[in-house]
Amino acid sequence: MDRDRLRANLLAWYDAHARALPWRVGPTDHAQGARADPYRVWLSEVMLQQTTVPHATPYFLAFTERWPDARALAAEGDGEVMAAWAGLGYYARARNLLACARAVAQAHGGVFPATEEGLRALPGVGAYTAAAVAAIAFDRPANVVDGNVERVMARLFAVETPLPDAKPELKRLAGELVTAERPGDWAQALMDLGATVCRPKSPLCERCPVAEFCAALAGGAPESYPRKSAKAARPHRFGIAYLLTRGDQVGLVRRPPRGLLGGMLALPTSDWRATPWSEAEALAAAPVDADWRAAGEVEHVFTHFSLSLRVLRARGGAEPLIWTPTRDLGALPSVFLKAARAGLDNLL
Ligand code: SF4
Repeated sequence: MDRDRLRANLLAWYDAHARALPWRVGPTDHAQGARADPYRVWLSEVMLQQTTVPHATPYFLAFTERWPDARALAAEGDGEVMAAWAGLGYYARARNLLACARAVAQAHGGVFPATEEGLRALPGVGAYTAAAVAAIAFDRPANVVDGNVERVMARLFAVETPLPDAKPELKRLAGELVTAERPGDWAQALMDLGATVCRPKSPLCERCPVAEFCAALAGGAPESYPRKSAKAARPHRFGIAYLLTRGDQVGLVRRPPRGLLGGMLALPTSDWRATPWSEAEALAAAPVDADWRAAGEVEHVFTHFSLSLRVLRARGGAEPLIWTPTRDLGALPSVFLKAARAGLDNLL
């Protein structure tokens, strides 16, 4: 592959088609010496990790009007910034945002470090953000690889390894295209290509400035890249939930502190295992001897397995359980709430 020509094609396309974004210094101004403000680049990248350009833009404009630089943001109270962040998702990011602005204000005199390493050392700044700010604001030849860039690389080079295993290879391939010539424009050109042309679905290959180099297009199915691993089948498990009632109370236990639903209130259960339970096994695993009757079955899907939970119900009395009124069962994890409801609906 002629990498120089590929780069030249994409940069020429960027010169003509760069998106106008409020945090961006476009290629014409950049060529005339204008430089992007690292504060604005950093802020935009943090916001864009959570949401799309159209959604982030009004927040970006409001933030930069109110807090035009890192010092101004750093001096603001936590509550004000959290309130302004509302609607952008995870508050942990807003907290990191403030921590970073304060580090820049206090340890760096309000000026962002110009290197990837220096940026990476700031609170809450990950490898991607550090590379993006270094490239876009400081024109450092940093390898800026997000999901868009991974997709473009997977297609250009028809990478057969599925994600996520392909990530190191995609990063290496992207790195081989980074040079000291216009690194900030290059990073943004790749971002724009991924966002507007080499889209996840229905890539616009007929408009693509690097189509002649694209191995996935040559293969006839560009959309099938990046390859994805077939989802590992979720294992299925079987268990018994024991619903012991006393008047309008249900006997609960607290699960052990470690493990699934650790420390939470629960119905007593058997182990959850790969094979169904026979009647005799279910009775033998019961927490107390009682007149257990079948009272329904519920299905529940956890992240790593699915579960069929048969409910057995009996009347209890003095068992050392956490006797809880049925009206308070809403605090149970949903799998146990489902099982309790099923059991209570299926009267003995
Ligand atoms: Fe993406 Fe199509 Fe361009 Fe290949 S030719 S890089 S698939 S838009």
